[in-house]
Amino acid sequence: MSVNIPEMFACNVFNEEVMKTRLPKNVYKALKRTMQNNEPLADMETADVVANTIKDWAIERGATHYTHWFQPMTGSTAEKHDCFISPAPNGMAIMEFSGKALVKGEPDASSFPSGGLRRTSTARGYTAWDPTSYCFVKEGSLYIPTVFVSYTGEVLDKKTPLLRSMQALSKTAVRFLKLFGNDRVTRVTSTVGAEQEYFLIDKKMYDQREDLILTGRTLFGAKPPKGQDLDDQYFANLRPRIAAYMADLDEELWKLGIYSKTKHNEVAPAQHEMAPIFTTSNLGTDQNELAMEVMEKVALKHGLVCLLHEKPFEGVNGSGKHNNWSMSTNDGQNLLDPGDTPMDNLQFLTILCALIKGVDEYADLMRLSAASAGNDHRLGADEAPPAIVSMFLGEELEAVLQAIEDDSAVYKTEARAFKIGVDALPSFPKDSTDRNRTSPFAFTGNRFEFRMVGSSDNIACPNVLLNTIVCEELSQFTEILEPYKGKDNFDAEVRKLLKSVLKEHRRIIFNGDGYSPEWVKEAERRGLPNYVSTVDCMPHYTDEKNIKIFRKFEIYNQNEVTARKEIHLEKYSKTIRIEARTMVEMARKQLLPATMDYVHTLCDGIAVKEKIDLGCNTDRKIAKKLNELADSFYDSIERLEQRINEANAVEGIQKQAEFFHDVVLAEMDIMRNIADEIELNMPSAKWPIPAYSEIIYNV
Ligand code: ADP
Ligand code: MG
Repeated sequence: MSVNIPEMFACNVFNEEVMKTRLPKNVYKALKRTMQNNEPLADMETADVVANTIKDWAIERGATHYTHWFQPMTGSTAEKHDCFISPAPNGMAIMEFSGKALVKGEPDASSFPSGGLRRTSTARGYTAWDPTSYCFVKEGSLYIPTVFVSYTGEVLDKKTPLLRSMQALSKTAVRFLKLFGNDRVTRVTSTVGAEQEYFLIDKKMYDQREDLILTGRTLFGAKPPKGQDLDDQYFANLRPRIAAYMADLDEELWKLGIYSKTKHNEVAPAQHEMAPIFTTSNLGTDQNELAMEVMEKVALKHGLVCLLHEKPFEGVNGSGKHNNWSMSTNDGQNLLDPGDTPMDNLQFLTILCALIKGVDEYADLMRLSAASAGNDHRLGADEAPPAIVSMFLGEELEAVLQAIEDDSAVYKTEARAFKIGVDALPSFPKDSTDRNRTSPFAFTGNRFEFRMVGSSDNIACPNVLLNTIVCEELSQFTEILEPYKGKDNFDAEVRKLLKSVLKEHRRIIFNGDGYSPEWVKEAERRGLPNYVSTVDCMPHYTDEKNIKIFRKFEIYNQNEVTARKEIHLEKYSKTIRIEARTMVEMARKQLLPATMDYVHTLCDGIAVKEKIDLGCNTDRKIAKKLNELADSFYDSIERLEQRINEANAVEGIQKQAEFFHDVVLAEMDIMRNIADEIELNMPSAKWPIPAYSEIIYNV
């Protein structure tokens, strides 16, 4: 079967191509202005024309309903479907869709987390059409990307702050670029390409594991004899069932206008990756949310389940989402491209130093943008980046920065030495970076790859924070350098600035092995924060310096930041509570009874054997061992239950989350170790849930 990709691509998306052919010229122009310059749509008549056109187009694609599609603080997407149906004379029906219905919706918002921003009694929430992302048709409905705000205008979603941060970044960066004579640029957009890791397992296995069903990860399970020891899964050839899944997935993504580009097997058994071509942060966020949904749905068609949890299986790698980030201008420059000439380099190096300063000063924000109960199992666990934020630049850039710091006219790398010109900075080749897989924030030639983000995360938050941090630093640099704009000593002043920034913030750069225990010590010596878990980093959301930049660029007001912090902490506690309860339930209803049954069987056997004078040493040994393990298992169940109750009684959101982390999670670990030990001593046929090797080597 061959697929005509260009023909199929975006066939379900109301993109610019469709707008251009379907909308009256003046309406198209008005809409385009809105999309590009964030100008509000002129009037309701224009909105009516757009709505009617989208409706006709959607109906041709099988849509009967429309939905405002938004991204509340739950972290997933939300939708409520309304039919286009409207009464016509004589008991008949017509299909209608007004500009008003396109532009604004009012879902009953009382059940979405708001962190106290919205009392349930005044649960009015509004969705407002975001014309900067495309509408699309899926499963019989027209999906309209929207933002979600409260009656009082406070943001209740993940998209609004992203759009705000993009707007602020554009304004700031345009002004900054003028310093370098980059006058034609009128708009700067942050871009993102999110590489998505995932696991695929057989649905039959999944259905037998309550932990996977309720929590997305395995809470029990002894390590199999073979994990990822041989590195034989990474980039391995695709087994037929996986290949069929990936082909199907590609098609579905293409139809939705997602440029799915790369697919391969990942490091852990049963782990894979999909990477799309990057796009604007706004569209990229919508598309990543959509991609995750499609991945899960397509899996079911193949009798598979797609696991997006950060750590579905102990002992093998978990899944992340490499957030490739850059900025591009409306005239096509990638601002993280070093360029070919020294003058480009000067602009690039200044942006680079702004990033170095920003990442150092706001490492706490970067860390917490990737914090969740799931991702806590991953960060710092010898696989993903460590929980310590640092930057990797590569040998060549390092050498250039060193030369700036030393006022040196030459920069050296191992193989070569380069001259630095008199009045400008060096010209250096592109793609001069080597690879470093362990760094949380790595320069990869023309972008930064932020690798901390969890596989199930909505990528809006990390991108909001990145954009805001860069905004702050670029605006500071602009303030300092603007007086020298166009003057003879501009270059010299830039160098002076970069030198002082490097002196102060060089500690954030680390090119070594981020997984090594030495790095933890070294980072501590450098004074870099090491926030091991969600409960450690989350309180810093509301640190004064952070609130200050959020307010300065109008990303969040103080209430909105506090709300976000609380929502994250509450979600953390709830997640651990559900996991702990699931463990208790599985232990009481499945694992302990199975263990005791088997001990009984052994004991019955021993009684019979003794009657006829047969030796039963082995039977006794196994029975004794399992009986003892069952005792401690039972005790740990009781204890964990007790701990959950204690946790529920802890007052204060932060304190409660800490209790879940310090006490409940620790008790869960103890219980798991006992259960896994029992599993290793039980016959497979008697163990009530599928073992790791059955799950991860089954597809
Ligand atoms: P690697 O193996 O180096 O991580 P991949 O091909 O798996 O590379 O993924 C690279 C990702 O980076 C892709 O999603 C790609 O589109 C994205 N990317 C490339 N250039 C940019 C850019 N300027 N801004 C944002 N993302 C980018
Ligand atoms: Mg990659």
